[in-house]
Amino acid sequence: MFDKNQNVLVVSGHAADYVWRAGGTIAKYIKAGARVKVIVLSLGVRGESNDLWNLPGQSVESVAATRKAESQAAAACLRVTDLEFWDYDDYYMELDDKAKIDRLATVIRTFDPYHIITHGELDLVNPDHDAVHNFVFKASVLAISNGVRIEGTKTTKQTRIFGFEPHQPEICNFKPEVIIDISDSIEQKKAAMNCFKAQAHLIEYYGVRAFVRGNHARRLSGNTTYKYAEAFTRRFPYVGSWLC
Ligand SMILES: [Zn+2]
Repeated sequence: MFDKNQNVLVVSGHAADYVWRAGGTIAKYIKAGARVKVIVLSLGVRGESNDLWNLPGQSVESVAATRKAESQAAAACLRVTDLEFWDYDDYYMELDDKAKIDRLATVIRTFDPYHIITHGELDLVNPDHDAVHNFVFKASVLAISNGVRIEGTKTTKQTRIFGFEPHQPEICNFKPEVIIDISDSIEQKKAAMNCFKAQAHLIEYYGVRAFVRGNHARRLSGNTTYKYAEAFTRRFPYVGSWLC
C-alpha cells in the first residue's frame, strides 16, 4: 500500500543512472505525492560520457557542464525538485571514506527515507556502481547506530534498500525481486531519457527494457493494464505480519 508520507531517497552513481533504471518509479511516486530526493554522486565525466568526448574541443569542464544540464533537464521531466549533485570523481569512485559515509548517513537521518533506491550489489562491468551500493548500505547502517554521533541528528530505523537493474542483467546475476508498473509514467521517463544526448544510444535500449519488464509484470500479476515496468533487487527481505 502506498503512503504519500513515505519519503524516497535515490542515490545515483552518475548523472543519468537514476533515469535509465528508476525514472518511471520516481515520477510515479512524485505524482502520487511522495517526497523524493535524488542525489547524483558524480557527473560521470570520465566513465559515462563517451559520446561527448567524441566531439571536438571538449574539456573536463565542458563535459561536466553538459552532463549536469542534461541531468537537471531530465529531473524536471520527472518532476524532481530535490536534486543534489555531490560532484565526486568517477571511474573510479572512492567512496570508502568516513567523511563521505557520514555525509550520507546524515542525509538518511534527516530526510528519513522509507525507501532508498540505488545501484544493486553487483555490476560486473561497472565498478563504480558496486561501490555506490556498498556506500549506501554502510551509510544506512551507520544511520541506525546510536554510537555513531552526528551533530544535530538522531538514529533512524533500517531503511529498505532497492537495487537498480544493471545494464547487462544476465551477466550480473540480476534477478528481479520487485517489479513496479510504470505504465502511467513511461512518457515522463522517455522524455527524461531524451535529455541525455551524451548517451543517446541508451535511450532505445531502456525503452525496450521497460517494455520487456511490462510483459513480466503482466505474467506474474495477471494485471493486463501493466504495459511498462522497472525491476529492482531488494537488499533485505520483506518483513511484515502477513505474506505479501
Ligand atoms: Zn553509472
